[in-house]
Amino acid sequence: MAILHIDGDGFFASCEISLNPKLKGKPVVTGQERGIATAMSPEAKALGIHRGMPIFEIKKLFPTAVIVNSNYHTYGMFATRMYDIVRRFTERVEEYSIDECFAILEDKDREHTARLIKTTLGRELGMTFSVGVAPTKVLAKVASKWNKPDGFTILDNSSIHDFLKNLAVGKVWGIGPQTSHHLHSLGVVTALDFIERPERWIRENLSSPMLETWYELKGTPVYKVHESDDIQKSIQKTRTFPHTSEKKIILSELSHNVEGACIHARRDKLETKRIYYFLKTQEFRYKRCEIPLDVPTNDPMTILSLVQSTFDTLYKSGVEYRATGVTLSELRPTSLNQTDLFGEVVKNLKLKKIFDVVDKIDRKFGTGTVSLASSLTSVGRRHLHPTRRLNLPFMGEVV
Ligand SMILES: [Mg+2]
Repeated sequence: MAILHIDGDGFFASCEISLNPKLKGKPVVTGQERGIATAMSPEAKALGIHRGMPIFEIKKLFPTAVIVNSNYHTYGMFATRMYDIVRRFTERVEEYSIDECFAILEDKDREHTARLIKTTLGRELGMTFSVGVAPTKVLAKVASKWNKPDGFTILDNSSIHDFLKNLAVGKVWGIGPQTSHHLHSLGVVTALDFIERPERWIRENLSSPMLETWYELKGTPVYKVHESDDIQKSIQKTRTFPHTSEKKIILSELSHNVEGACIHARRDKLETKRIYYFLKTQEFRYKRCEIPLDVPTNDPMTILSLVQSTFDTLYKSGVEYRATGVTLSELRPTSLNQTDLFGEVVKNLKLKKIFDVVDKIDRKFGTGTVSLASSLTSVGRRHLHPTRRLNLPFMGEVV
């Protein structure tokens, strides 16, 4: 079994060019509406334009650049077509972000199949993709990044060693600038240096996710490809906060949990038929509420309105609370649910399209890039980088 990673090259800019062939060959930059470049064509890259560069600066330095507004709805549709094309070749696909997916290929003919997927994507979507094939997710991800744009890199147990010898440790998926700096100070410069350290050394010097990265780079899979049919029983999100009796803050904490649980449910393509939520007092007493749903959903706004309408049965003013939580139970796959009598499903399908795009933007730019207004009190109170929602987009691998 091999893992395939596919990454659209300069995806947003490529979507624009695919829709408007007159732009082909020009230095195209997206992100006008954010005031910073979010993606660019190879011609724009060749000029020296990079992601995150302020648009005003681009206009000043590169007057030939064609700068356009991002259209996430359109990019979301291209993403859906990308996943659908990959599914013609393998059912086992994880829709990882708006311009990336993972898939599982059988060992037999994996190279042939991977090449066929790449050329089909290119032909049908009118843009190039970079592809990595490897025994683990982390290796597949570094492989697809290796020869961008239009790259194709295949790694197996015999070639991992040579490949990692030439890869800076900071280029590995999951190793950020801080860890990379720390590793350098310990004499680890390449990814090969990293995997050659013994497990004990990793445990003693680094945080536990680095051990997972270490295994993955050595070719031992730790991270699963999240296929949509991995059905689980329930999804729970809870959080403790500095105690308060203020209703608005407690509701906002709940909203945050509901939103997180729904992101999880949507990622796994699940809907809930029954929700529970609780408030925990400063004295560790729990107040619970259970709400059965007529129509399954994974839409946080629908769930929140039910929470709000029942909230006063749990909440008592003057009581100090310290935690809230929500459980989505009786989960079922989203696709089981196509018709009903009340038009709720139609509404949910429309919302689904919106949230599909929101989730993919989150994957690309970092969780919390887009969030419900009702969660903002909780987010702000926790000082979770409030500016990140607006203008710090490059948290992921976005090339
Ligand atoms: Mg990309």
